[in-house]
This record gives sequence, C-alpha cells and structure tokens, in this order.
Amino acid sequence: MTRNSVTATAKRLVLSITRMTIHNGPGIRTLILFKGCPLRCLWCSTPEAQKDEAEIALYPNRCIHCEQCVPVCPTNAIDLTGGTMSVNRAVCDNCGKCAQVCHTEAIKLLGQEMTIEELLTEVKKDAIVYKHSRGGVTISGGEPLLNPEFTQELLRAFKKENVGVGVDTCGHVPWTTIEKVLPYIDFFLWDIKHMNDEKHRKFTGVSNKFILSNARSVSERNVPLYIRVPVIPGYNDSEENIRAVCEFARDLSSLVNVDLLPLHHLGKARYNSLNLAYPIADIPLIPDDVLHNIKKMVESYQLNCSIVG
Ligand code: SF4
Ligand code: SF4
Repeated sequence: MTRNSVTATAKRLVLSITRMTIHNGPGIRTLILFKGCPLRCLWCSTPEAQKDEAEIALYPNRCIHCEQCVPVCPTNAIDLTGGTMSVNRAVCDNCGKCAQVCHTEAIKLLGQEMTIEELLTEVKKDAIVYKHSRGGVTISGGEPLLNPEFTQELLRAFKKENVGVGVDTCGHVPWTTIEKVLPYIDFFLWDIKHMNDEKHRKFTGVSNKFILSNARSVSERNVPLYIRVPVIPGYNDSEENIRAVCEFARDLSSLVNVDLLPLHHLGKARYNSLNLAYPIADIPLIPDDVLHNIKKMVESYQLNCSIVG
C-alpha cells in the first residue's frame, strides 16, 4: 500500500487544528480534531465532533441581517423574519454555501476535508517548537482512529518528518486498527468513562469491553498510556468507580499518569449553535475539595495523578 496509490487524494473531515496547546501530552503540541465518534457520551463537550459529516453552526447574535445568505441557499432553509436568523435544519443539507458568504461568521461550516499532505504542511509549521519543547502533534476528535488506512498513512508521514505523535482515543475501535498505528505512536491519551459495563452503555451508548481490553493490549506492547477520566458528579465519581479505575490502571505496566478531567460547562454554547438541547445543564460542577480527594485516592494506589483543565 503506497501513499501515492492509496492515500494521496484521500481526505478526512477535520473539525479544527489548534497550535501551541499544552494540555494534550508532553511539550507544546498541535492538536488536530477529526470529526466522527462512535460514542455519544452524555457529558460530551464537543458535540460538533460527533458526526462524521460537515454541518453548520449558527450564531444568530452575530447576524447583521445583510441577507447575503438567503439567495445562495439551494433549499430555502434560511429565515430572517421576526428579527432573528434561523435555519430549518429539516431541509438544510449542510452544503455550506451560506457560510461562504456570511462575513460576520453568524453561520459557520464545521468540518473541512483535508489530505495527508495538507495536514502535514500545517503540522510542520511548528517543527522547531516541537523540537525545543519535546512536543509534537496530538490527534483527537471525535475519534481519530476511525478510518484506519488514512490514519496509518498520516501517522507514518508525521513519523517520517520526526514529528512526535500522541493519540487521544476513546479506545472503542477494533484492535486491528490500533495494531496498524502502534509503530508510529509515542503515547496514547486513553479515556475511561466508567468501569461498570452497564453504566458505560447507559452513559456513552457503547460497552467498555473493547476500551479496556485494547488498553491492556497497548500496555503489553509498552506504549506509554495516560488514562483520562472525565469526572462527572453523580455519574462516575463514586468511590467504587474511582477505585475500580485505579485497580485497572495499576495493572497497566506502561501507565504514565492518570489524568482527571473535571466536568465543565464550556460546551453549552456549542450545543446551542447546533440547535441541540444541552443534556447536562443540571449537573453541578465538582467542588475543588472533592476533586482533590479523588486525586489523593488515585495517588494512594501509587499512581501518578494530575487534574487537567
Ligand atoms: S448549509 Fe446550505 S442548505 Fe443549509 S442553510 Fe446554508 S446554504 Fe442553505
Ligand atoms: S449572511 Fe450572515 S450576517 Fe448576513 S443575513 Fe446571513 S447569517 Fe446574517
């Protein structure tokens, strides 16, 4: 399988590329978010990364009612009457023509198809930064390991340019996919949402079976693992669950750290922009002292632990 014959023109939908990040692995990193995720976590803070398709986001308070978007819409989905801007999503096909003419970014198209060469060009802009900070690129999403052939070629290209690679994964992908990319990865950020399978299914839509077994298999191959635990009050912050995570994590020989990611509500505006109900409005933030007690509990298992974010 050569890059030219198989993937030179292959593309994947990219939600965003953020340079100079410091919370996504060691050093200073470029963070690439891909669209498409097999999970539907109740507390997801990036709902715009869930679908593997482009979609429009709406910010009506930026609209100046210039009417540029109305004539370009092929489905007559845009309504500017009543003093506000809205889109009938039942007829909108997310073509993005309105976003192209909207100068105030009241409508934005989320998701841009990019080739491996285009992604490589973006990442290489900060090669000097990676070198001096021992950083690199972290691919995330959504789920970055969807589309195994594309991902394998992308990571191979990064490696060829001596760019360090981290993968932020939900872990719910076939082992054959992970095996393909292992040679090119410096570390994984590996999410564990719940140790109880029934609750995992209820809160994320899928079983935790692959997630846990894949993490064990990665560890057996000595690839560094950062276990990441979103801490969601009333859902997965019970002592029973945290201890179960610790017991699982201490058996991972390649574990570097347990990262605690406390719930935040920064994603609320994203739900609004997609006209989705915000499903976790009623969940309170976790108090600092409770979070620090969880950290101490993790450390009592002789595990390194950080609060991230
Ligand atoms: S994305 Fe296309 S179909 Fe949807 S509102 Fe904009 S122009 Fe109309
Ligand atoms: S182009 Fe943008 S600013 Fe102008 S009416 Fe449409 S949404 Fe509003």
